Amino acid sequence: MPIRVLPPETAAKIAAGEVVERPVSVAKELIENSLDAGATHVDVEVKAGGIGLLRVSDNGCGIPADEVETAFGRYATSKIASAEDLEHVVTLGFRGEALASIAAVSELTMLTRPHAELGGTYLRTAEGVVVEKAARGAPPGTSVTVKNLFRNVPARLKFLKSNTAEAGRVATLVSHYALAYPEVRFSLTIDGRNAFASEGNGDARGVLARVYGLETASEMLEVDWREPGGGILLEVRGLTSPPSVSRSSRTYITLFVNRRLVQNRTLAFAVLEAYKGLLMVGRYPLAVLDLRIDPRETDVNVHPSKAEIKFRDEGAAFSAVHRAVQKALSQGSLSRPVRMPSEPASPGDPSPWQAPEVAPPARNGAWPAPASPDTPVRREEPIQGRLAVPILRVVGQMGRTYIVSEGPDGMYLIDQHAAHERVLFDQLRRDRGKGEVQSQALLEPLTVELTPQQDALVQGQVEILWSYGFAIEPFGPRTVLLRAVPAALKAKPPAQALLDLLERLQGDDLKSYDWDDRILATVACHSAVRAGQDLGLREMEQMVRLLESTDNPRTCPHGRPTMLHMTSGQLEKGFGRR
Ligand code: ADP
Ligand code: MG
Repeated sequence: MPIRVLPPETAAKIAAGEVVERPVSVAKELIENSLDAGATHVDVEVKAGGIGLLRVSDNGCGIPADEVETAFGRYATSKIASAEDLEHVVTLGFRGEALASIAAVSELTMLTRPHAELGGTYLRTAEGVVVEKAARGAPPGTSVTVKNLFRNVPARLKFLKSNTAEAGRVATLVSHYALAYPEVRFSLTIDGRNAFASEGNGDARGVLARVYGLETASEMLEVDWREPGGGILLEVRGLTSPPSVSRSSRTYITLFVNRRLVQNRTLAFAVLEAYKGLLMVGRYPLAVLDLRIDPRETDVNVHPSKAEIKFRDEGAAFSAVHRAVQKALSQGSLSRPVRMPSEPASPGDPSPWQAPEVAPPARNGAWPAPASPDTPVRREEPIQGRLAVPILRVVGQMGRTYIVSEGPDGMYLIDQHAAHERVLFDQLRRDRGKGEVQSQALLEPLTVELTPQQDALVQGQVEILWSYGFAIEPFGPRTVLLRAVPAALKAKPPAQALLDLLERLQGDDLKSYDWDDRILATVACHSAVRAGQDLGLREMEQMVRLLESTDNPRTCPHGRPTMLHMTSGQLEKGFGRR
């Protein structure tokens, strides 16, 4: 093919692809515009995963009638005037390409009115071109409605997940902005249901309660740190969890730089480093932090959707966040003694492994970050493949945690919890395959309150939850009625069983088979014997027999080993016999 310049519509679609990847990207650009416009109210509406409709309305400054059309031109912006301005961007937007890009891949309409003008302007675009402009009555502010996103880019549509998952991403985004802008009142409606609302009264902890639950919010530690003495101004503010509150993935670390939502490995790592030694392996803190830094020290123009940021002095940014969180943690531990979850139980002390079981149901309503490459979806296949284990003879229990046993070639130390998890997982999977999962009806149905994200999750998956023995029915806004739980979980507070499960299921890219595995693994994990539990010889023998007959006896459903093997050779070598 000869070289040619592409027609403008094609070029526009290509360029739009950079900015608008999925519905949540549209939501992000529109919300940022509202915040840049000084809005104190931002209302987001989503229908059909944001593909059908996505609307963001604000009470910001509005656009004067004679400028509205210009706003849709590529590189049309009121936020910077020259390349030098790029050096110290203080607004969230600056490239002037969002409206043009969104309009190129959707049917976009805008209704806008500056406070000082009496009437508003209505504008309609098709394929990125303004096809209608009219004076129209409007409240002060701007409302942008995006319909049929990607209808003219079918290739894009194919890459989207389910409507539930896409709406979930928007919910996550809105909650994150609400956390960073507690003085702004956000609301989110998904398919006509009120999914989230913040009050806009400036209370960050209050917003956090709406997102992650009251209990978590009340425990969060205040972060308020400022670089002592001169130099570049560095400040870190926000909330971070005490070691007693943790999550199973690092997606609960939400970071802002000058109130811009960013993905930044260095800063996330700084947070994790501050918790070193305080959290069990595989547990992560929950944090919402905003780093304030002279904009000239950063480069925000490094990523198409402005999700990444570069620092002139990365080390300074790292140590600011690290020290800020450390300080919060040390002050937090002065005010209340926290026991590390990884601490072994001291004699007479109730086992820490059992502590969570009697704790009141935690509202673990956390939302995964939109793009979280770091949350591995653990597959059950062990790295070393399916290795059978020989017939073992149980010798005894060690530390109320391990089963010591002997095989034809040396010693096998079996983790009783992990082993039991594997046994139960396989059993449950068989039962499920036959449609025979046992469920236990509750004497009184329970109402369980859900976070917006959990709610969205449950809406789409009621059937699969039923098939595992969770009988749930919708019951009012963000509330479900729980009538039965899997029999394997009958010893657990039922609401907590459901909420724990939902927390594990939050990961928006889960395929249905992952759902199955995750549900099975969670049910197995919660019903398995704990570390710290006394087991009789017969019980241990039975467990080892069952373990031997499973498909993957050497790993638990989460992929961790169930046993360590010390060969006769290793033993002899260790004792200098060889
Ligand atoms: P950018 O945000 O990078 O300037 P956009 O394409 O997102 O580019 O928006 C173009 C311009 O339209 C903005 O610079 C702003 O002047 C105006 N604009 C967009 N959305 C709003 C809004 N919600 N309220 C007021 N002005 C807006
Ligand atoms: Mg913008």
